[in-house]
Amino acid sequence: MPAFRFSNGWLVVIAGTLLLQSAQVFGLEQVSVRRDGQEQHLEGNVVVESQDGGILLMSPDGVLWAIQPDEIVRRRTDSRPFQLFDRILLAQKVSQEIPTGFETYSTAHYLICYNTSKAYAQWCGALYERLYRAFFTYWSQRGFDLRDPEAPLVAIVFADRPSFVKYAKTDLGEGAEAVIGYYNMRTNRVLMYDLTGVDGITNHTGLATTASHINRILSKPQTERTVATIIHEATHQIAFNCGLQQRYADIPLWVSEGLAVYFETPDLESSKGWRKIGGVNRERLLQFRMYLRNRPSDSLRTLLSNSQRFRNTQTAPDAYAEAWALNYYLLRRRSAEYHAYLQTLSAKKPLMNETDEDRLTAIYTAFGENLEALDRDFVSYLRDTR
Ligand SMILES: [Zn+2]
Repeated sequence: MPAFRFSNGWLVVIAGTLLLQSAQVFGLEQVSVRRDGQEQHLEGNVVVESQDGGILLMSPDGVLWAIQPDEIVRRRTDSRPFQLFDRILLAQKVSQEIPTGFETYSTAHYLICYNTSKAYAQWCGALYERLYRAFFTYWSQRGFDLRDPEAPLVAIVFADRPSFVKYAKTDLGEGAEAVIGYYNMRTNRVLMYDLTGVDGITNHTGLATTASHINRILSKPQTERTVATIIHEATHQIAFNCGLQQRYADIPLWVSEGLAVYFETPDLESSKGWRKIGGVNRERLLQFRMYLRNRPSDSLRTLLSNSQRFRNTQTAPDAYAEAWALNYYLLRRRSAEYHAYLQTLSAKKPLMNETDEDRLTAIYTAFGENLEALDRDFVSYLRDTR
C-alpha cells in the first residue's frame, strides 16, 4: 500500500468536525484551489477540517483531496446534497483519467475497467466477489457490523506490464517498477495488469482468454505469491470501504498490513467458498521463523509503535511477516480483546495522527500493560504453529 503523508498542520478540531459532518448531508462544498500556478475547481463533501482551515474533501468519484489552507482561493457551501456517483457516472469519470480503449465490466460490488480480454476482467470480478463475500462472512461471524460501500469499488486492469507501470508512475513514481498491483488510498482504486502474459507464469505468448485457462495458469504454485499480492491489495480496498477502517485514519500498519496478509492466500480451486482465509500463511511463517533467530528484544514494541519498519525496504519483509504472525496469534488466542481493539480503530477519523506513545497506550488498554508477557505468549504460539 503506498504511503501518503500530510503536513503537521492537521490538528482537527472536534467540534468543527462534527459541525461539518452534519453539514455534509445538506450541502455540497464548492472549492477553488490554486496549485502549481493553476486554478482548479473541486466539489464534494468535507470529511474533516483542520484548525488552520485546511480541508479533506471527498469528490463524488470517491477521491480524497487534502487541501492546504493557502491553496484555497474561494469556498462556499451549496444547497444541493452531496452524492457519490452512481455506476454509470463513475465509469465515465474513471475513463477520463485512464488511457483510451478501456471497457467496463460490472459485478455486484465492483466496476472493473479493463483493456485486456473480457475473460480476464471476468476472472478478476469473480475472484474479488469471492474475496468480498469471504471478508464479510469472516467479520460478521465475529460480531462486526460491516456495510456495503455506497458506490462500486473500482479496479483498473491493464493488458500488460509496460502500460501498467507507465500509468502507475503517476501514482507511485519510480516505486511503480517494483509492484505488480496496488491500492491507491487517495483515489480508492486498485490497479493491476493481466498476469497470464507474464514471463515465468506462462510459457507462450499471448494472454489467456478463457476462465478455465486463466485459472489453470494462475493456480500454479509459482504464481501463488503473485495472485496473493492482487488479493492483498483488494483486501485493503474492502477494509477501507466497508467500515472496518476509514481512509486516512491513523490505522497502525501492523493492523492494516497484517490483516491484508492474513487474507491474501489464494483459494482458486473452490468456486463457492474461500477455505484458506485465516489459515497459516506458509511464506510469512517461514520468514517469521527466520526472523526469530535474531529478533531484537524490543521487536513487538517497535512493530506496535510506528510504521518505520514497514517503510524501510531492508526491514519491511520481517515487519510484514511479524504483522501477519501477530494478527494470526491475536485472532486465534486473544480474539475478544483484539476485536474490541479493532472496533476502536474503526471509529478513528481521518488525519488525526497519533504519537508512538498514543499507539502503545491503546495496546495497553486493549491487552494489558505487560507487553513482555504478551510477547512471550505470542512467540511461543508461533513457534508451535504448524
Ligand atoms: Zn498492503
